[in-house]
Amino acid sequence: MSGLSAGGIRKGQGRGSVTPRVSFEFFPPATPQLVRQFWSVMDRLAPLAPDFVSITYGAGGRTRKRTHEMVVAVKQRTSIEPAAHLTCVGASREEIHDILERYWQAGIRHLVALRGDPPSGSSAFVPHPLGYAGAVDLVADIHAFADFEISVAAHPEGHPDSTSLKADLDHLKRKEAAGASRAITQYFFDPEVFLRFRDQAIRAGIRMPLVPGILPVTDFGQLQRISARCGARVPPWLEQLFAGLDQEPETGRLVGAHVTAGLCQDLLREGVEAFHFYTLNRAELTRAVCRFLGVSEKPLRPENRPAATLHD
Ligand code: FAD
Repeated sequence: MSGLSAGGIRKGQGRGSVTPRVSFEFFPPATPQLVRQFWSVMDRLAPLAPDFVSITYGAGGRTRKRTHEMVVAVKQRTSIEPAAHLTCVGASREEIHDILERYWQAGIRHLVALRGDPPSGSSAFVPHPLGYAGAVDLVADIHAFADFEISVAAHPEGHPDSTSLKADLDHLKRKEAAGASRAITQYFFDPEVFLRFRDQAIRAGIRMPLVPGILPVTDFGQLQRISARCGARVPPWLEQLFAGLDQEPETGRLVGAHVTAGLCQDLLREGVEAFHFYTLNRAELTRAVCRFLGVSEKPLRPENRPAATLHD
């Protein structure tokens, strides 16, 4: 199976095979306690030398300020490259230009450009009258604005708004033509879902790296709620594995680690070279899975430990 190259690769140490590159996604914390947890998780994941960490932008753009603050704080306090998620929801072009300008001035050079989910209570995306029709439009405008690296979303099981797989792939191709240089997928649990999509993307002429989005499952109930919204399928075998574990979070975490490590190892064997982890601001499972993948840790010097330099 021919693999799209997801950036450079380096030799693994632990398993004697190629070691993948990794990136980690966080959401912007809402309370002082969650901010402390964020930096402590960052401390534990930073030694895995991620290519970048990305910070999400709440549905409806409701975390705009917090996202900006955390992205800039990661840039200032760590040696890791941050990527800022940005969506079209509820924003005019002028407002987006203002955000782009502030990111550029702060030295942020990587954006994850998305159409965005509507705020809770609304079911469909409605473009802002002075804004963007969708991600393609946003990517083109960012690309024209400044020389940002632009990642976009891909939906290997089809987006809920998708009319056909072909329409989805054409749409992804338009994002690449507009200036995107990486597509990160929605999460999935069967490796074939990604591998089939990768083959179809190559056949459709998509050349940018396709990076699988990996969700280490910790809470199955939460997974079912998120999946119902985003169109990711929860396979029956996964439901069976978690059946009856509602009151046993420790066992659930062990099952989650096993499932996620198995998925990543299958993908690694098929030539996948980079993984994007939806960390949900937790370190344990992502760290455990990275160890299974042979991602080596580089101890941080005290001055590079973000939590240690935290003053607020
Ligand atoms: P688009 O690419 O604009 O479109 C989504 C789908 O709609 C397409 O795949 C296609 O099926 C259909 N479609 C749209 N226009 C056309 C067209 N002209 N022709 C044919 N089909 C079309 N949401 C947030 O609110 N904040 C975040 O921080 C965030 N981060 C994310 C990170 C990743 C890696 C992923 C995978 C998703 C993320 N999302 C986030 C969710 C995302 O915003 C939703 O999935 C949203 O509904 C679609 O965004 P998109 O950028 O894929 O949209």
